[in-house]
Amino acid sequence: MSDNRYGELRPGQRVLMGPGPTDLDPRVLRALATPVVGHLDPDFLHIMNDTRDLIRSAFATNNHLTVAMSGTGSAGMETCLVNLLEPGDRAVVCVNGAFGQRMVDIVGRIGAEAIVVQAPWGRTIDPADVEAALKQGGVKLVALVHVETSTGVWQPVEEIAALARAYDALVVLDAVSSLGGAPVLVDAWQVDAAYSGSQKCLSAPPGLAPVTMSERARAAIGRRRTKVQSWYLDLTMIENYWGEARAYHHTAPISMVYALREALRIAAEEGWENRWRRHLRLGRALQAGLEAMGLSLIAPPEHRAPMVTAVRVPEGVDEAAVRRQLLADYGLEIAGGLGEFKGRAWRIGLMGNSCQWKNVVLCLTALSVALRAQGYKASADEALAAAQAALAAY
Ligand SMILES: *Cc1c(COP(=O)(O)O)cnc(C)c1O
Repeated sequence: MSDNRYGELRPGQRVLMGPGPTDLDPRVLRALATPVVGHLDPDFLHIMNDTRDLIRSAFATNNHLTVAMSGTGSAGMETCLVNLLEPGDRAVVCVNGAFGQRMVDIVGRIGAEAIVVQAPWGRTIDPADVEAALKQGGVKLVALVHVETSTGVWQPVEEIAALARAYDALVVLDAVSSLGGAPVLVDAWQVDAAYSGSQKCLSAPPGLAPVTMSERARAAIGRRRTKVQSWYLDLTMIENYWGEARAYHHTAPISMVYALREALRIAAEEGWENRWRRHLRLGRALQAGLEAMGLSLIAPPEHRAPMVTAVRVPEGVDEAAVRRQLLADYGLEIAGGLGEFKGRAWRIGLMGNSCQWKNVVLCLTALSVALRAQGYKASADEALAAAQAALAAY
């Protein structure tokens, strides 16, 4: 009996302006259609080496231990924490949004102790608070989020990283939404472990998590008294597959590696500095346009990330209805708020290949129409003029 109940895949055409995934470059789509080879095929080993070199370039690092973990950004987060922490260890975790909170959850599941350094959602972490936590002593690592995607806050890293080093603690950096959209200078900042996700400013599909670790971090893993709690994310074994030994651990997601390699190749061709500048200019243009509509942004101007902007929903406006209208009328996806800002904010992404001027124009225009339908007076003309002025200023 044949079963024809299921139609062909036909999702709607979208413009992806949420905080990932993003619209893919056609070259990345073509890479996904490349024939699958074996995960130990000599040709695939070259492809892995290229991918690893390109990940090093993205993180501005020479770290030997640099891999793409199978899984999304959260798998990168869990990889760093589960390999560096053992039960009973102490970790300082900086929390000013949903992703810092997720780290606390993982630290607790490991059976380690999280000393939480908090800042209100929408604010940066104060290095003085990190130092106070480090003074409690015996801290193995400090974990922080570079760009908190739940609020759009861009956290300065260097001062906190220097403090951690002064107290002989490792630094773990969440660069999931920042990598490829803003400088993530792992070696220069002396970050010991950093992770990202393939689907944000790198513009590959979701499914791989670039991870890099310093020699200091590797040594800490080498000194473990217990096995890494997760078999799947155990870097001591993964390292043997990405390294010379090419020892089988789990089957690499071949097509995803193809896609990530192509996405990284596109980014390297553009040039990392050019890419950061594109995100900064277009992010500032979008933000100027939103403010010209009278909207209020959650992150303060001096700590506002360019690749994701969290916007307060004005009084009397139905948050979800606006998103529904954008999707139905323009195929435009933006995201709602997370955690404390659920129902009270929109999050608009300008990440990787989605970070384009035409998308800024579409978003400001479509949003002004949707807001007027909600009785909120917003002028697309003024928004576009402000966006263009901001663009000219950068
Ligand atoms: C998206 C994101 C994550 C989680 O990544 P997933 O790919 O959704 O698992 C973690 N941290 C930050 C800052 C993020 O933006």
